Amino acid sequence: MNKKQRQEQFDALQERMHACRLCRKAGFYIEPPAIAKGSLGAKIVTIGQAPGVTEVVAKRPFNAGSGTRLFKWLGEAGIDEDWFRRTQYMTAVTKCFPGKNKTGGGDRAPSPTEQALCRPYLDEELELVQPKLIIPIGRLAIEVFYPRGVSLEEVVGTEIQKDGRWIVPLPHPSGASRWHQIAENKPLINKAIRKIKKRYRELYPN
Ligand code: SF4
Repeated sequence: MNKKQRQEQFDALQERMHACRLCRKAGFYIEPPAIAKGSLGAKIVTIGQAPGVTEVVAKRPFNAGSGTRLFKWLGEAGIDEDWFRRTQYMTAVTKCFPGKNKTGGGDRAPSPTEQALCRPYLDEELELVQPKLIIPIGRLAIEVFYPRGVSLEEVVGTEIQKDGRWIVPLPHPSGASRWHQIAENKPLINKAIRKIKKRYRELYPN
């Protein structure tokens, strides 16, 4: 497939995701459209859990508080937010806002059925973008690459190579998530940031 064909397929995929209502048809509350953004030329892809309500309004992943924290971490790895949003690719395990959870204290975690319905899009995104570094953010995204039920303590601060791609997990940076706020976990996050920095410098030496 040449560059032009790849770009056409990428644009068509974005349109299909935008128009997708599969989870609604399956009876789940979701608020479309799909939120995923970035460039086909990206060497780095971030995968979050699902967009939140502010992402739907801003129409970009990791907006507001969770985005501020994520880009603080990436900033420590030498990555500039504007550059990253312009040139890299940001997506999620499920791409439509899933609504609030029952307590209203955070967003509803997408069900296994919704994750399965949305998975072909994620596979297609990765196949077309062909990133060299994937940063799964939060448990659901981490479980795309690691065994189900693996703990954050086991994987944050480590990296693995799969299909020629480096995978460096981060915890979810949302204010509703406690893990990243626990002092003992900070060294693991710092370790993950150092690994991202190393891979980023290899990919973008200048
Ligand atoms: S979350 Fe994914 S599968 Fe579900 S409606 Fe949105 S784009 Fe479609």
